Amino acid sequence: MSSPQNNLAEGYENGLSCLEVRLDRIVRNYLSLQKRLKRGADCAAVVKADSYGLGTTEIVPELYKANCRHFYVANIAGGLTVRTALVGQEAQVYILNGPYGAAPEELAWHKLTPVLNTPGDVEYWSDFASRSGQRLSAVIQLDTGMNRLGFAAVEMLWLEKNAARLKALDVRYVMSHLACADEPSHPKNREQLERFKKMTQQLGLPCRFSLSNSSGIFLGEDYHFDQVRPGCALYGINPQPGQENPMQGVVVWKTRILQIRNAEPGETVGYGADYRLASRVKLATISVGYADGLLRSFSGTGAVYINGQKCPVVGRISMELIVADITHVTPAPHERGWAEIIGDHQTVDDVAAAENTIGYEVLINLGRSHKRVYSGQG
Ligand SMILES: *Cc1c(COP(=O)(O)O)cnc(C)c1O
Repeated sequence: MSSPQNNLAEGYENGLSCLEVRLDRIVRNYLSLQKRLKRGADCAAVVKADSYGLGTTEIVPELYKANCRHFYVANIAGGLTVRTALVGQEAQVYILNGPYGAAPEELAWHKLTPVLNTPGDVEYWSDFASRSGQRLSAVIQLDTGMNRLGFAAVEMLWLEKNAARLKALDVRYVMSHLACADEPSHPKNREQLERFKKMTQQLGLPCRFSLSNSSGIFLGEDYHFDQVRPGCALYGINPQPGQENPMQGVVVWKTRILQIRNAEPGETVGYGADYRLASRVKLATISVGYADGLLRSFSGTGAVYINGQKCPVVGRISMELIVADITHVTPAPHERGWAEIIGDHQTVDDVAAAENTIGYEVLINLGRSHKRVYSGQG
């Protein structure tokens, strides 16, 4: 391990906490997903919310080098970030939440393709297309059972009646989204698949189809259609909960031990004094807290790894500090040494389980509160 001075020179935040994003692992995850696809199906990348908090500006060019040409974001700001990261390159950028948030001229200028979810969206986008004399690209989303975004079965009639509007647009894909893909035996998966086939047939547009997120890819080729849209699996989250994770971890989160002390039976640790020691222990106070994206629900359930050994977090999580029991660790940890929160010994999903949430939220919380260090650029 390099000295603290070296780490500072590498840009580690305050020299105290480091969130490393391994770009080569993201690329490897992308390629391994692509390898699982039915012949002819494209692997897009979902990079919404600044690529799940890990940094679109750095991640998207690496995916592009791996031949990814389709990127999904939630909104126009996210789309512009992708365009800026890929200046001069040919790539499709789709806006999941529709054509709003900027003037339609701006979307068209930057060649951003909105996903149209409602009759109002189709009217808005096709009116602008005819007004400006352009054949604009679009994706149509159908709701096949999630009740979130997209045309419902009862709105199919509207789409049929307004076929001329759709014809005036360049409809690239018809898509839908699965509610339960991470539970392979859930009957909803088949149900949505069948409904998707039925609705797309009814629509009869000469375009391509897209249904699956990360977990959907693992439901089999029936679910791949012409394009899949993985997000979480690219960033190392297990798309098959309960089974061995086929993806590689992408995040390494380490932080420093500030102080080491001995404490006696009967003493308490942290706010509320509700963690009472049963025996003599050695404790490490570590430079991380809920301000850094570690949830308070990590109290009493979470652990960090020091010298590769598990150290339970004791007492409540503070804003910028936690305390871990290091009594058993050999060789003995030292002040200013590192503790791993996410890395080789503990995955994003492990931290999520301890926090009673999902890996997605862990990543988003981390990304928001950290300066990131990138490694493995191609
Ligand atoms: C977020 C999202 C995805 C990616 O989902 P993951 O579970 O992260 O793979 C795909 N499609 C849509 C419509 C989404 O909103």
